[in-house]
Amino acid sequence: MSVDFYDLAVPGVQKLVPYVPGKPIEELERELGLTDIVKLASNENPQGINPSVERAIYAMLPNITRYPDGNGFRLKHALADKLSVTVDQITLGNGSNEILELVARTFLTPELEVVFAEHAFAVYPLVTCAVGAKAKVVAAKEFAHDLAAMADAVNANTRIVFIANPNNPTGTLLNEQSLLEFLEKLPATVLCVLDEAYYEYVDSTVRTNTLSWLDRYPNLIVTRTFSKAYGLAGLRVGYALSSPAIADLLNRVRQPFNNNMLALCAAETALQDHSYLERTVASNRAGMQQLTAAFEKLGLAWIESAGNFVALDLQRPAQPCYERLLRQGVIVRPVANYGMPNHLRVSIGKEEENRKFILALESALDDV
Ligand SMILES: *Cc1c(COP(=O)(O)O)cnc(C)c1O
Repeated sequence: MSVDFYDLAVPGVQKLVPYVPGKPIEELERELGLTDIVKLASNENPQGINPSVERAIYAMLPNITRYPDGNGFRLKHALADKLSVTVDQITLGNGSNEILELVARTFLTPELEVVFAEHAFAVYPLVTCAVGAKAKVVAAKEFAHDLAAMADAVNANTRIVFIANPNNPTGTLLNEQSLLEFLEKLPATVLCVLDEAYYEYVDSTVRTNTLSWLDRYPNLIVTRTFSKAYGLAGLRVGYALSSPAIADLLNRVRQPFNNNMLALCAAETALQDHSYLERTVASNRAGMQQLTAAFEKLGLAWIESAGNFVALDLQRPAQPCYERLLRQGVIVRPVANYGMPNHLRVSIGKEEENRKFILALESALDDV
């Protein structure tokens, strides 16, 4: 008799719909025998490795026979100095995705509810469903989080609200005023996870210093990452800033050595290197202009984005265009699984990558 292991999985996992990552370059190479592929599908930093990080990793390499520092002493102190928080407010994660999962595992049960927005980051439903909690998805307003409606969705069973600012895949940004109003209304027993994965890309004129709110709102958890602007997506380092009590709880749940030694040292080095970050942000701004100028010329609509990507609105199903781009060696991200079947999310690349994408897009649109 054969066993159906699907029946044995916990109910939340039985219902899980797996995360679909951007198509890997090597996969497209294998499938179509193409070379010179441009991947603008996972919001990675197109600058290439930061040379100071590369040196630091080589210098650390002989130590890998040892376990890493499970408390991340050096990185936490560097973060605390830079961000004006205390070390006991920091939780390090294997990417900020792990932080999202830690929050869910620490605070949710199947009786509790989680509020997040339509078109919000795909990991929120994943971590919610995996622990069997109930997801309340609040309709978006012109693709942006509707914070007033999200506040209305909070009830006595709500334990967590996830907010992505800017949001992925839409790129929409919430302003300081609306966030503050939301936090004011939120019951003190409901945790607000403010996911700031793209914080460094946000124009300083519209960026909100949410860390200054941590003292006033002990239920606030701000998450950030080294995967995007710091160019370390492959090493997996993210972090949460919160009240010390929440940080203590999250640190109890995480694996003792969740961040590897090379990742810790790379993140610490990257944090000190302002020139790489400045180059990244400047190049992103130029690339965003390059892409949106091309969209404008082609008569295409897009969602204004504060991140390192832009959601292009084809106003008809986007899958055929996605496939035609693939055949020309350009990988972007279809976002039908985010309830956006007419959009393609395009990460901002280097100038020549953007140019190649624009040419491929023109030809893909001609093909229709
Ligand atoms: C990319 C991204 C993250 C970061 O994930 P890591 O695990 O840190 O690589 C988190 N939130 C959002 C909204 C993202 O787009």
